[in-house]
Amino acid sequence: MSDTSLEFAVPLKGVPETAVIQSNLPVYSAQQREEKIANIKRLLKRENAVLAAHYYTNEDLQMIAEETGGCVSDSLEMARFGNRHSATTLIVAGVKFMGETAKILNPEKRVLMPTLDATCSLDLGCPAKEFSEFCDQHPDHEVVVYANTSAEVKARADWVVTSSIAVKVVSHLMDQDKKILWAPDKHLGHYIERVTGADMALWQGACIVHEEFKARGLGELIAKHPEAAILVHPESPAAVIDIADVVGSTTALIKAAKELPNPSFIVATDNRIFYKMKQEAPNKKFIEAPTAGEGATCKSCAHCPWMEMNGLHNLEAVLESGENEIFVEQDIRKMAHRSTSRMLDFVAH
Ligand code: SF4
Repeated sequence: MSDTSLEFAVPLKGVPETAVIQSNLPVYSAQQREEKIANIKRLLKRENAVLAAHYYTNEDLQMIAEETGGCVSDSLEMARFGNRHSATTLIVAGVKFMGETAKILNPEKRVLMPTLDATCSLDLGCPAKEFSEFCDQHPDHEVVVYANTSAEVKARADWVVTSSIAVKVVSHLMDQDKKILWAPDKHLGHYIERVTGADMALWQGACIVHEEFKARGLGELIAKHPEAAILVHPESPAAVIDIADVVGSTTALIKAAKELPNPSFIVATDNRIFYKMKQEAPNKKFIEAPTAGEGATCKSCAHCPWMEMNGLHNLEAVLESGENEIFVEQDIRKMAHRSTSRMLDFVAH
């Protein structure tokens, strides 16, 4: 590991707890829920809009996206989907960097989000100014950033990657003898280093959801479910990754749930992914990996508080009002487009 890897970490402020977000969400009767869903579908048509929902958003939003020709996917596929769809308005249900990525790739389209308050601990923990200083300290490094970053950070990068292609891009750069700076997720960074043998300068950010998964509790759960395969997202700590049968992006984990012969799975990623996993493998059982062991309490408890801010109420409201539009300043957008579209080109070839 690089000796520069422990230098940069920015303390997080104002991180919400998932249970608190949930307690403030509106509660609907079955009939009210049906009416909201029907109205949202009508408004999507009226606005010539299409919904891209992340796997971590609530089940109703995922279902509406599927039933209206939208997409339910990881952030890479959300970006590609918005890029090729003919709708003039993209509704991005997820967190802020996803809306910004959609705008970076589709400047001519209107991009709306159900809420502008939904962010990400990786984005929050990697402010553009400090990140730029970090880059300045490593002028001979190729700058590779995770998609979970602001438009300004993407603008400073040479490459933007998602977890599904991070290893491939870093391997590609290693083949060219490049030195690599990675930001912002330290766990994903360490995982990439271990898989590729790269020695990267690492930013020290973390996902508040994945960081809570506990290796010890996972070991105890495995003892109770010896038949289960262990699926782990690489934003998790190394000790959890070490126990995994499959380590991969959300899309890779869903594929593993479908294809592996195991009757059950212990899953270390946001639990809203179970909606898609159950759809793909209806006869299998999915168990949440532990986020709180003895003496420990969880704050996100396997579900992202910011993802939870997306609901029927604000999806309907944004379609009605046209508010919560995403804008990215022109110069930033152009520079971020270069590093982001590079990822799409890389995937396409
Ligand atoms: S789950 Fe983690 S990485 Fe994803 S948006 Fe939430 S905080 Fe960010």
